[in-house]
Amino acid sequence: MLPMDEAITVIKNGSVAVKGPEIIDVGNSDDILKRYDPKAVLKKEGSVILPGLINTHTHAAMVYFRGIADDLPLNDWLNKHIWPAENRWLSPEFISDAIELACLEMLKGGVTMYNDMYFYEDSAGKTAKRIGMRAVLGVGILDFPSKSASTSDEYFSNAETFIKDWKGDDLITPCIAPHALYTCGPDSLKRAKTVAEKYSIPIHIHLSETEWEVREVMTRYNKRPVEYLESLGFLDETILAAHCIWVEDKEISLLAKRKVGVSHCMESNLKLASGFAPVATMLMEGVKVTFGTDGAASNNDLNILSEMSTTAKVHKALSNNPTVLDAKTVLLMATRWGAEALGLGDKAGSIEKGKRADIITINLNKPHLTPLYDVCSHIVYAAMASDVETVMVNGKVVVNGGSLITADEKEILYKARKWCEKISGK
Ligand SMILES: [Zn+2]
Repeated sequence: MLPMDEAITVIKNGSVAVKGPEIIDVGNSDDILKRYDPKAVLKKEGSVILPGLINTHTHAAMVYFRGIADDLPLNDWLNKHIWPAENRWLSPEFISDAIELACLEMLKGGVTMYNDMYFYEDSAGKTAKRIGMRAVLGVGILDFPSKSASTSDEYFSNAETFIKDWKGDDLITPCIAPHALYTCGPDSLKRAKTVAEKYSIPIHIHLSETEWEVREVMTRYNKRPVEYLESLGFLDETILAAHCIWVEDKEISLLAKRKVGVSHCMESNLKLASGFAPVATMLMEGVKVTFGTDGAASNNDLNILSEMSTTAKVHKALSNNPTVLDAKTVLLMATRWGAEALGLGDKAGSIEKGKRADIITINLNKPHLTPLYDVCSHIVYAAMASDVETVMVNGKVVVNGGSLITADEKEILYKARKWCEKISGK
């Protein structure tokens, strides 16, 4: 077992005792079984137990736009394909159906919590909760009309209603998500900050994803993006900034100083040719870097295990240094640091007494995971999403033997194909 505690202990023949939603004990199986009289025992011989993986940046409902447009420059992709499709199709019903597919994909790949930025988050919350997935759901804020709101006041009133409705829920954490610096002016950013402070919730924002965005911010405000946010008093540990690709050293120092969490979305960045985030430098400076997939229209999956492997390898090559992003650091980024960056470090991210039981098992009895010298190495460099066997969220088993047990997988795929027929007009 890899509980992902501070010391990154590896417990041979380990067990977790769970009562209700909570972890009550962790240790050697023989000791745990002596100490308790469990109602049920889930035996997983030949598997490794670890905390659920955390996806810190996605637009989960975009799974319904997976593969709708690829191999295009970012602006064409967004303006000619994604935004028109969103304006045409988004609705509470679309979100509810699409989130089923997103949760199915993520849970089966060992992801127990995701951080979202999208619209109609109330529908997303109801679906994620029904399926049994933990989520931080950020209501998107834009300075221009979209399918979900037509004025700034409407965006904010939608956000406040959502926050009030969901604050205190055990699985769903409400959040506010001003989209980016080129889509939200200073008034919206300050207003989002005020709302976040009022309700003590996180803020989720895209930051420095493209060179174009940096030029745009420089033209408008004569400051680089991170410095501009600092000048607004926006930066602190409640901020989860996605991408942070085009950041200079002084901006990295600011991100570290203000304890901003960063979501690194390697595969989306590679596919859209957005650039390479200076992850090795950020980690060296003490920035909490975590893993995001971004939406499935730009990735095109929600697979954190593959992000871990790709990211470690790409940054070794970029740094011309194979010692950077070692397997243990990558595991921290995918678990403990992900929860901490979302303000949920006391609840998730590791298997420790008092935390919620968000736990997965990976079956090591596979050709590509044999022999076994170092379990951290296998998870980061060799494991696949299909090796995930059991997934427990908040003390409840949601995936068993690799299959979702809280909803009908066939029905979810059927609905997704029906939507595809509608969207593609076939
Ligand atoms: Zn994004």
